[in-house]
Amino acid sequence: MTDLVRKEVISRANMVVIKVGTNVLANPAGHLDRSRIQSLADQLHRIRSGGRKVVLVSSGAIGAGVGKLGLGKRPADLPHLQACAAVGQSALMQLYQESLIPHGVQTAQILLTAGDFDNRARYLNVRNTVLTLFEYHALPIINENDTVSVSEIKFGDNDHLAAMVTNLLRAPLLILLTNVDGLYAEDPRGNPNAELLATVPHIDQSITEMAGTSKSELGTGGMRSKIRAARLATAAGESVIMANGSVDGILDRVFAAEPVGTLFLPHGQDVPAWKRWVGYTARPKGKLRVDAGARRAVVEQGKSLLPVGVTVVEGDFRKGDVVSVCDETEQEIARGLSNYSAHDAERIRGRSKEQIATLWGTAPYPELIHRDNLVVIATGPV
Ligand code: GLU
Repeated sequence: MTDLVRKEVISRANMVVIKVGTNVLANPAGHLDRSRIQSLADQLHRIRSGGRKVVLVSSGAIGAGVGKLGLGKRPADLPHLQACAAVGQSALMQLYQESLIPHGVQTAQILLTAGDFDNRARYLNVRNTVLTLFEYHALPIINENDTVSVSEIKFGDNDHLAAMVTNLLRAPLLILLTNVDGLYAEDPRGNPNAELLATVPHIDQSITEMAGTSKSELGTGGMRSKIRAARLATAAGESVIMANGSVDGILDRVFAAEPVGTLFLPHGQDVPAWKRWVGYTARPKGKLRVDAGARRAVVEQGKSLLPVGVTVVEGDFRKGDVVSVCDETEQEIARGLSNYSAHDAERIRGRSKEQIATLWGTAPYPELIHRDNLVVIATGPV
């Protein structure tokens, strides 16, 4: 049964985003593993030769910088991390280039910051560039632009970045290559007999808990960030496979639909492009807390969010900005484009249409967020 599902997922994956973690590419001192990179390049070439479009999201810039500069370990503060990334990114790209050129594949470096995803025009530009690179048969290699990203504008980790790229391109498959075999029911460091989950139909809280709080030494991710990324992509209707990038030929095996790693199945339906941006990509500029009635209307009845159901307005947003909608327990239930600025939302919250009419004459919009601009998002903390 599982094998059939896998085969189906693999056969439909005409475009794939592959994310490679620092620990797959470099040793703990930050020395890039040339033969591993060559082997990945050979496999990428085979995947592309089969007619699939491939985007690589590669970590390893900071790690490689640590190695090149002979620092021994990852620095703790931002300027030193940024300097390491500047040194390491070019070394990383050089190795990819050297490994792919023999296959006749040109590499294309794309460095992104979170701001590129918040702004819809820039977001679409990234998409256009990647699609044009496909036209040239070049391989886009994406990383965060670490040298200019400061804490407020950081994606946080490349797992998240890879999930956003997957959603941006509507790629049916995201592969997260890390240095563990997949998601285990328990931490395998504590229990060597822990069960490796072959398939996760839906990422719920029990799955999140399995991820624990692991973090890697040279990279910034860990199991938790992988599960969060997997949830972002599966919530938008794509599949995710997490597998061990340190195992020889792992990508060949994934594309032969062998039962390696953990497959996360899409949750629900394919989400339209516009809603992916509103619900899962742009960072909300504010928050609306709603009462139980409004929660029901939005989550269960597919209705718009009316001012009367809003109890608290937070943040400094303008009309048209993405805002987050939370219930009384502070759980995020939706995101959408606000019809009102924070200032005006504060004036109309908790009021009925009639009360708003008394206050303002005719209100410009009856809804605070119209249903068409509202995305009910996957529930449960990650
Ligand atoms: N952008 C970072 C780098 O290339 C990695 C972030 C991560 O490990 O997720 O080193």
